[in-house]
Amino acid sequence: MNDDAPKNAPNAAGQRANWRVRTRLVHEGTRRSQYGETSEAMFLTQGFVYPDAEAAEARFKGELAPGEEGFIYARYGNPTVAMFEDRIAALEGAEAAFATASGMAAVHAALMCQLKAGDHVVAARALFGSCLYIVETLCPRFGIDVTLVDGTDLDQWRAAMRPETRLLFLESPSNPTLEVIDIGAVAEIGHQWGARLVVDNVFATPLFQRPLALGADVVVYSATKHIDGQGRCLGGVICGSERFIRDEVEPFVKHTGPALSPFNAWVMLKSLETLPLRVHAQTDGAEILARHLDARAREGAPLGRVIYPGLPSHPQHNLAARQMERPGQMVAFEIAGGQAGAFRFLNALGIVAISNNLGDTKSLITHPSTTTHQRLSEAAREHLGIAQGLVRLSVGLEDPEDLREDIDRALARV
Ligand SMILES: *Cc1c(COP(=O)(O)O)cnc(C)c1O
Repeated sequence: MNDDAPKNAPNAAGQRANWRVRTRLVHEGTRRSQYGETSEAMFLTQGFVYPDAEAAEARFKGELAPGEEGFIYARYGNPTVAMFEDRIAALEGAEAAFATASGMAAVHAALMCQLKAGDHVVAARALFGSCLYIVETLCPRFGIDVTLVDGTDLDQWRAAMRPETRLLFLESPSNPTLEVIDIGAVAEIGHQWGARLVVDNVFATPLFQRPLALGADVVVYSATKHIDGQGRCLGGVICGSERFIRDEVEPFVKHTGPALSPFNAWVMLKSLETLPLRVHAQTDGAEILARHLDARAREGAPLGRVIYPGLPSHPQHNLAARQMERPGQMVAFEIAGGQAGAFRFLNALGIVAISNNLGDTKSLITHPSTTTHQRLSEAAREHLGIAQGLVRLSVGLEDPEDLREDIDRALARV
């Protein structure tokens, strides 16, 4: 295997450091085999053979020749997975990345690899359901105390801090109500107390929000969402400093086993090439639809709040404009008539499919209070602003005009 591209290739020596994001997403991390294949190879192998016993010993000791990569076993590393990790680290502006089998495996590993009994965690209350399970249910079982706060209220973060606070955790924009949290301000609060900030950056995507540059220490993704973006594979990734990934994440993941399959890594790697094209086009659609829904609400259509960080009516619109390059492809809105109204709307849609996934090329819609957030009490849902009529739309790659017509047709049936 060699990392050297043929002469004239865009990754010829010296140019790499100046590559812009789109170029990195096509070329970064590529390891060409002796065959010089154009497309990245899928190394569907669990193990690796060594030329002799001495070489095996050296590999296990971590003694590598210059340019040699120390693959030993696919639970710790695989060339296709490494290509995906390098490409995503380059996109994120992170020193290193570690891929996992799912987004939840990434969140779990990113938190648990650095926590121990006696530590304290502060997390925003508006979290993806399974993330909430980890902090609210799992952490206390291991003697890790957790305080949940309203993420948009910085005073609550400040008030929750203690000498033993080791980690802060948030998601912005949040699911499903698209609350935007000031990442730089929360990072600063954490750092004053010697705590690290972990950001679940799924909704913003690595293109539109750079938590590390804003002050966060660790970024996690469900690669299942926009990174695959075509509804095929589960995957996750943790991005951070070389030291954090090698000394804390790697031993944890290596010995507990949530490794990303090389097949899934290959799908994700190839998907990264088109990530900017997809996410920008989806966001164009989301902007059109959010403005349209907002206008329809003011004309008296059966709509309540229209929530989109790009609309001036969004409670953190200015923060979103400062912190995010673009507002993203998720839109939430309330249908009049509560659950019955929302169900009539969902059932009348022809193009937009009912599904709880997001970031897909296909437009998908979900009714959080009866699906993703049904486990919560009515009071907890109310606290999070999840009304009975709220729906969450993930805008896909269809023509926005067709989506607009689909939504208008369904609104007429509410
Ligand atoms: C989907 C999602 C996850 C979990 O990812 P999986 O790949 O489904 O395990 C975590 N956080 C957020 C914000 C998500 O949307």
